Amino acid sequence: MNHYPFQLVPLPYAYNALEPYIDEKTMHLHHDKHLQTYVNNLNAALKDYPQLQTWSLEQLLYYSDMLPEQIRTAVINNGGGVYNHNFYFANLSPTQSNPTGELLNAINDQFGSLDNFKTKFKAQALSVFGSGYTWLVINKDGKLEIVNTKNQDTVLPLNSCAVIGIDVWEHAYYLKHYNVRADYIDDWSKIVNWPQAEQNYVSCQKPRTW
Ligand code: MN
Repeated sequence: MNHYPFQLVPLPYAYNALEPYIDEKTMHLHHDKHLQTYVNNLNAALKDYPQLQTWSLEQLLYYSDMLPEQIRTAVINNGGGVYNHNFYFANLSPTQSNPTGELLNAINDQFGSLDNFKTKFKAQALSVFGSGYTWLVINKDGKLEIVNTKNQDTVLPLNSCAVIGIDVWEHAYYLKHYNVRADYIDDWSKIVNWPQAEQNYVSCQKPRTW
């Protein structure tokens, strides 16, 4: 099966649906320009490598050590950009929600309380120096953990599986929140798609399908 060429995945909601927390103009630029560029650059990197065009995005990122050196960095950066952004956009929703069920129990077990988790997550997102992401993952030991990744690195090489994730590149918030990342994190936290996060939490505990 060919995964190539990779396509721009449409937003699962309208560009203005996350207002007033994330503005329509940011969503247009973020999705139509930034993500589209990662898609284009990933496809360009793989253009002359038909043997890699059968690899899934996850395989390309997880087994990046096996890629030809000439395209390895381009695939990590641009493939990571595609993977991380697809995750980020799907993990937001105009319908406000809260964690429940198994995921809420696991958050309480690991972090003491939901409030304590939110405080830790925000502090960790504020601590990303430069561009990157903060994630709630199931780590290689099967435990919930908050981790940061730099640039467009994904959590896949950490043998981790993402439950929620925030893009803290300035392009994600600068038009509305200017330099105040803390305000963006607070607004983002109101539109996390927790039902989607719970699905992630369940599927993260199953054997990989890629
Ligand atoms: Mn971004």
